[in-house]
Amino acid sequence: MWRADVFTLFPAMFPGPLGLSLSGEGLAKGIWSLEPHDIRDHGLGRHRAVDDTPAGGGAGMVMRADVMAASLDAVLAPDDMRPRLLTSPRGKPLTQGRVRELVAGPGVVVVCTRFEGLDERVIEARGLEEVSIGDYILSGGEIAAITLLDACVRLLPGIMGKALSGEDESFEGGLLEYPHYTRPRDFEGRAIPEVLVNGDHKKIAAWREAEALRITEERRPDLRRR
Ligand code: SAH
Repeated sequence: MWRADVFTLFPAMFPGPLGLSLSGEGLAKGIWSLEPHDIRDHGLGRHRAVDDTPAGGGAGMVMRADVMAASLDAVLAPDDMRPRLLTSPRGKPLTQGRVRELVAGPGVVVVCTRFEGLDERVIEARGLEEVSIGDYILSGGEIAAITLLDACVRLLPGIMGKALSGEDESFEGGLLEYPHYTRPRDFEGRAIPEVLVNGDHKKIAAWREAEALRITEERRPDLRRR
């Protein structure tokens, strides 16, 4: 079983959308597991404080290293080899390649933070690897964690049917995907491209490749260069 442990101040956000559709069926079948852990269980004092003002001054609050360490240490065995990911806009951007690597391993630990972020010292001391889901700021790491887990779980063996191996998709071959069509044959005067309805599989494959190249060149020239 591929195991995900998530550390969060909002455990009620999990499984959330991951409890439905493919990922939800996978959870029910025991293909993967998802355990949310409430960081506040290790908060300090009567108010179970998890954050404090930033050293050096400035706006906002910073999540405390000691509270986060206690939360992680209460759950993770020292020999747990899973990558410990910290959702962070400063992280390495998540890619389909990294998702494939994560899926090939035993699972993941995902730490979600709020406020300005997490004290740097616990990032170092517990070997957290910062991962970003894009160049914009969310209000917390939970939606980033759900995004990351969704991308992983759909690739686990037994989640998608064989026909939908996912290998044909955008990014998998370094290109964006070609356009899709289905019935009706005529939609408001727009026809399905002729090549797709003639049944010549060689020509169809060539057309799809050319379209994938064209769309990638148009929309993501950076992918073409890689
Ligand atoms: N002060 C931080 C932003 C904090 S946003 C900065 O400027 O870098 C609050 C939390 O939301 C972050 O700690 C992180 O856990 C999560 N988060 C926000 N944007 C994210 C993104 N693009 N990818 C992953 N996690 C993100």
